[in-house]
Amino acid sequence: MKAMVLKRPGTPLEAVERPDPEPGPGEVLVRVAACGVCRTDLHVVDGDLTEPKLPIVPGHEIVGTVAALGPGVDRFRLGERIGVPWLGHTCGQCRYCRSDQENLCDRPGFTGYQIDGGYADHTVADARFCFALPEAYSDAEAAPLLCAGLIGYRSLSMAGQGIERLGIYGFGAAAHIVAQVARHRGAEVYAFTRPGDRAAQEFAMELGASWAGPSDASAPEELDAAILFAPVGALIPAALKAVRKGGVVVCGGIHMSEIPAFPYEILWGERVVRSVANLTRRDAEEFLAMAPEIPVRTSVELFRLADANDALDALRAGRLKGAAVLVP
Ligand SMILES: [Zn+2]
Ligand SMILES: [Zn+2]
Repeated sequence: MKAMVLKRPGTPLEAVERPDPEPGPGEVLVRVAACGVCRTDLHVVDGDLTEPKLPIVPGHEIVGTVAALGPGVDRFRLGERIGVPWLGHTCGQCRYCRSDQENLCDRPGFTGYQIDGGYADHTVADARFCFALPEAYSDAEAAPLLCAGLIGYRSLSMAGQGIERLGIYGFGAAAHIVAQVARHRGAEVYAFTRPGDRAAQEFAMELGASWAGPSDASAPEELDAAILFAPVGALIPAALKAVRKGGVVVCGGIHMSEIPAFPYEILWGERVVRSVANLTRRDAEEFLAMAPEIPVRTSVELFRLADANDALDALRAGRLKGAAVLVP
């Protein structure tokens, strides 16, 4: 198999050839058709996330077909198209696993972080954490649903009920999906981008946003909730100032720069700041059933697997419209 491998954080991925992996009990061998590039991959590669298995094959928005079944797998057939997400396995025993909060498991394994992922032409995954994918999407279009979509959906769920005005800070892959779900639910979307990023602002307006502007501008209307996808701690006080009393500010990213001190009065009024961590299998089942009904459309930019470093650079520089997807 071919793979793009991170040997040391802070260095580019290297192309390697390896023997094809063999699926163990409960696992499937997946022939990768497409793999999305997520901001979390950038945090792994840049060393912001400090516990990778090394060397590691990044990538946790994997779409492919089942090429071999390990012993005991009856969930999928050979040749079936499946998706492999970030949550690669859980312990099944800790207090979180026992209480429907498997996203918070004490001993999890994450795809593309502790488990080799989808920047490759083949990968192995625990079948219990894989999903059948809606047919309405091509392989590349389905890839961003698996993390950007799922985290966006979980973030929106955590933002509260009955949202009429939703702020979204950072208009990339997750935002472009969650904006469509929020619009479908009747909410107005206010998109905050990097100052000067006209392309992202126009993209937000194309997707039905009521307003798009720079993140250093104040919101034109009082917001009911805000979701932060940009990994910028200074946006938390900005978003708190923009939401109404009782409003929720949800941090959807896995890593963020330090949050500056802010006056208590902008949190006062029962405003809430919270993070969203990982996903549960239930999130995936709900969202993957809902996406084609809305229908959510994904905007993707294709890169060859060998050009994974270019895709990461484009994401780092904010040059993407929607999501980058690697194709072997
Ligand atoms: Zn657990
Ligand atoms: Zn991700």
